[in-house]
Amino acid sequence: MKINANEISALIKEQIKNYETKIDSNDVGTVVSVGDGIAIVYGLKDAMLGELLVFPSDVYGMVLNLETDSVGVVLLGDDQLIKEGDTVKRSKTVMTVPVGDALLGRVVNALGQPIDGGGEIKTNKTRPIERIAPGVITRKSVDTPLETGITAIDAITPIGRGQRELIIGDRQTGKTAIAIDAIINQKDKGVLCIYVAIGQKNSTVAQIVDRLRKHGAMEYTLVVAATASEPAPLLYVAPYAGVAMAEEWMEQGKDVLIIYDDLSKHAVSYRTLSLLLKRSPGREAYPGDVFYLHSRLLERACKLAPEYGSGSITALPIVETQAGDISAYIPTNVISITDGQIFLTTDAFNAGQRPAIDSGLSVSRVGGAAQYKATKQVAKSLKIDLASFMEMKSFSQFGSDLDASTVNILKHGEVLLQVLRQEQYAPRSLAKQVFELYMAKNKYLDNLELSNVRKVLNDCYKYVNNSNPNIFEDIMDKKELTADNETALVDAIKEFFAHNEE
Ligand code: ATP
Ligand code: MG
Repeated sequence: MKINANEISALIKEQIKNYETKIDSNDVGTVVSVGDGIAIVYGLKDAMLGELLVFPSDVYGMVLNLETDSVGVVLLGDDQLIKEGDTVKRSKTVMTVPVGDALLGRVVNALGQPIDGGGEIKTNKTRPIERIAPGVITRKSVDTPLETGITAIDAITPIGRGQRELIIGDRQTGKTAIAIDAIINQKDKGVLCIYVAIGQKNSTVAQIVDRLRKHGAMEYTLVVAATASEPAPLLYVAPYAGVAMAEEWMEQGKDVLIIYDDLSKHAVSYRTLSLLLKRSPGREAYPGDVFYLHSRLLERACKLAPEYGSGSITALPIVETQAGDISAYIPTNVISITDGQIFLTTDAFNAGQRPAIDSGLSVSRVGGAAQYKATKQVAKSLKIDLASFMEMKSFSQFGSDLDASTVNILKHGEVLLQVLRQEQYAPRSLAKQVFELYMAKNKYLDNLELSNVRKVLNDCYKYVNNSNPNIFEDIMDKKELTADNETALVDAIKEFFAHNEE
């Protein structure tokens, strides 16, 4: 068969024409508008939600809006480098971050790039930042405690490995302090920690890293920082990047503790992006899917069943309230997603009660199953005692002559508050917590001057530890108050008081 040259060239032209339109609309697009870290790109018919796009000057963007003729993209780099008319290519992958042990001890940004001046991170493994949370079959209920070293938490709102416990309170009430203390307390406990800083000042993050380093906690900790000076898309991405890094360890059968400090700022950054993408604002101007923003993040924290390696991710998200209003939009959302909350109040903080935990509004819905028996034995009535104290306290403000039993309840409550007081960076061991709560429960402290309670507790602990170190070792070992170690403890405590009276 003979084909003449004209026909061939017509055919090729036709094919090239089709080829071009195919590329144009599916894999390559054109920037229509750009500004405020957002680009609207014409074309890219096949783009996926969350897909990475490659802009000129090595700027990356992430697809957040899929519309009929265009896609809305958040830019993960400097938007000044992009102009209208630029070509944009699909990468056909969703965003990934580096994962693995090389990240331990490092400070990285939301893309997993080192920002601590410590050189390159040597790992060739990456994971997508978005992933469906493990299903119910692969999970197991919590059974191992995550010790925070803070008596008020370990005793009243215990946290289990794989649990999600919210830390909520107004600004400057010690939310971050609790999270940092929990990290410091994981030393030698086989828990890897990730601190995700979202929208905080650079200086605050630097101080935290410094603190962790001083306490030798950076050895098992990774810090993911998206600070206030960074563009909103990076703040939005940071917690997902953090949890992707955590999942790698969890799947190796390790236990991970991850802190999101804080999700209020995360929600605000997402609101900024949504409004710039012209999504319709809902309650408090947040977009309709702001619940999903946090639920898909926190669902990824879990305890895996033994067949899947028994790893876990414990999440401690932090939410800031305005004037103690826990019924605002973001607080109610996150409260309903988590397994409990630790509520901090400005009043308690200013009254010198630190950590400023409101035991009435704080709850842990699943952690009790993971609490050590020893703690359970001494903390059983703690919450009720505190509640009746609070009730009596507000009531007794109106009258002056109180009957003896009321006076006793008031005194006991004040003593309990002293026992629960704790300095920053001074986590208490299980034995110390049990010892102090035992002293309070058995009314060894109710006759003391309030200002003397903490001193007596410390002195007595030292005395018991010197005179019979086996007692605390046995409690640490068995995680239980047995008839034997309890008798020995009572003897030692009595000896201490007899000694002191001389
Ligand atoms: P922000 O809203 O600014 O993030 P925050 O709620 O995270 O604040 P922190 O920064 O943890 O609060 O603590 C506020 C201040 O209270 C800090 O100066 C901290 O040192 C102090 N503080 C927190 N907890 C304690 C504590 N247990 N004992 C003594 N001081 C504490
Ligand atoms: Mg803070």
